[in-house]
Amino acid sequence: MSLRIQLWMVFLAPVILMGGLYAFGLTIPVPHFGRDYVLRLLLPDTAEQVGLPTVYGPQDASRPLVLIDPGHGGHDPGASGAGFKEKTLALGLAKALKNRLVEEGGIRVAMTREDDIYLLPAERDDLARRLGANLFISIHADSAGEQSGVTGASIYTLSNTASSEAAARFAARENAADQINGVSVGTREDGVEDILVELSQRRTQAGSVEFATLAIREGEDVIRFHPQAKRSAALAVLRAPDVPSVLFESGFISNPEEARRLASTEGRAQFADVMARTIRIFFARQSGQ
Ligand code: ZN
Repeated sequence: MSLRIQLWMVFLAPVILMGGLYAFGLTIPVPHFGRDYVLRLLLPDTAEQVGLPTVYGPQDASRPLVLIDPGHGGHDPGASGAGFKEKTLALGLAKALKNRLVEEGGIRVAMTREDDIYLLPAERDDLARRLGANLFISIHADSAGEQSGVTGASIYTLSNTASSEAAARFAARENAADQINGVSVGTREDGVEDILVELSQRRTQAGSVEFATLAIREGEDVIRFHPQAKRSAALAVLRAPDVPSVLFESGFISNPEEARRLASTEGRAQFADVMARTIRIFFARQSGQ
């Protein structure tokens, strides 16, 4: 076949194909851009699932499982202040709680990270779902920037509307953890701005709110809570649909005294005491239902 005929074939083939389809009454569907049409961009490097973490405690699947999630990690330090980084502080608190629960026995415990590594918010709650966890606790600290006088812990549950402006700002900062240089690398097809609590999540949500209420009751004499300690916001990390999930914001890293206390052995032990007790009461109530 001469080069000229080959070139003609290249140009004519699509014309013949379209003509043939038309002749047989077939058409190639053209998408209508509108409400039902979704364009998806898949990012290949985030499509890989992270491996399941070690489950500590009794190897008995009937025992309740709590997944502890130290916030941030790796290239994402979270908030910083007074010479401390949120990622380190959260990991210290999380390990203290894990050790306490394992020591006391009866409850299975896993951590989303045990080292200084980075996980997307979506990967964290996805682990809760894949592990079949009965409770998910994400541990963070806040920063009030220059306002070093601001202190106090709070506990967040998921909702479509934030409980206050401060809660909305906190959620916006935390949700930005899935951005690298301002570009979202989240694996979810919907944006974090659009976090909808579905009807099917209402029961799970009731569990989350119950846990938050219990934690404040159990900790009020030990932990210095913020006056508005129970908060809600559209936090991406709390979206596991079937797992009661809370985010414990342990205090303000921008207050040197609070940061030092949260990083100390004593501060970690106080946190572990309160949370371990709350977790036991929560699971006892759940099994009695
Ligand atoms: Zn954080």
